[in-house]
Amino acid sequence: MNIELQNISKTYGRQTGLAVNDVSLAIPSGELFFLLGPSGCGKTTLLRILAGLLEASAGRVLFDGRDVSASPPERRGTAMVFQSYALWPHMTVQQNVEFGPRMQHAPAADRRRRAKDALDRVRMADLASRRPNQLSGGQQQRVALARALAAGTQCLLLDEPLSNLDARLRLAMRTELRQLVKDAGITAVYVTHDQVEALSMADRVALMNAGRIAQLGRPADLYERPADRFVADFLGEANFIRGHLVSSADPIAVDTPLGQLPAASCAGALQGQAVTCCIRPERFLLSPAPQALPLQATVAQCTYVGEAWHLLCRSGETLLKVKTPPGPMPQLGDVLTLYVAPDGVTILKD
Ligand code: ATP
Repeated sequence: MNIELQNISKTYGRQTGLAVNDVSLAIPSGELFFLLGPSGCGKTTLLRILAGLLEASAGRVLFDGRDVSASPPERRGTAMVFQSYALWPHMTVQQNVEFGPRMQHAPAADRRRRAKDALDRVRMADLASRRPNQLSGGQQQRVALARALAAGTQCLLLDEPLSNLDARLRLAMRTELRQLVKDAGITAVYVTHDQVEALSMADRVALMNAGRIAQLGRPADLYERPADRFVADFLGEANFIRGHLVSSADPIAVDTPLGQLPAASCAGALQGQAVTCCIRPERFLLSPAPQALPLQATVAQCTYVGEAWHLLCRSGETLLKVKTPPGPMPQLGDVLTLYVAPDGVTILKD
């Protein structure tokens, strides 16, 4: 199912301002789309408007080109999956999954077949006779998904579905959930405040801030080419170096306290303009690369995290967050030569 939001705004009352502020986006059929952002940015409000659980104050919701803004939830062909699994405690797994087809008055044989298909997909057919309180959190979440699939949903709306699971299971379920949605070929809209979840699972992400979309794109676009400081900060660690664009044509260069930093794109900034250079900590290289700026940096702090060293290095007056691959332990006071290549620098307009 194709989803389109046209100029959606929502206010909960005159005192509260806009929870969602003029959001427009289009989600093609079969896409796993993420609404990501900090607490209170409006992502749950937007999801509830999609589900028909909340009415927008302005704008339209289109499903396959059809305006469903005034349709009740049960007419939209969507299914919500929450962090609390909302399974019926007195029903078995089988009965829970058959619930949707039963409400649609499907014949008994059809109900059983749809439930079996859905339970097979989530690998829960063996536990069909159990009750929800005899299942682990991950298993309950699988049953909740099976219930949505058996009901024939065209669009899955997921509100922080993994946040009640422990860290290890959450990690495993990310891959599993993505695979399941992709295999089923349905459109899914997934709300989370966890940037790693969004980056690792999404086809595309809309990062929201204060009711608006700060940036929309593929995970790597947002992480590698953030549009502004909010996006860069929200998606991971970053160094922000202020400077002036001295050359806006190839080779692009920014005058900074670290020296002339190269960049792959100047993001529309004009020569002479004040800009901020964003460098992810893992973008510092330990060996030379074409057009890379070499930097002398002194190790001031060093933390071992298994797959990398997290360093704090001083270069002149500037403190830099640096991540280096595992190797011999850097010593405090060591002077490193770090290299910054053009594709490691994103220019943000001030
Ligand atoms: P969280 O991750 O904490 O759930 P969110 O991004 O999903 O946050 P929303 O729940 O959509 O954010 O809330 C957006 C804004 O609307 C917030 O400022 C919130 O306080 C406000 N809000 C949400 N529900 C109501 C309500 N029923 N009445 C008044 N204000 C509300």
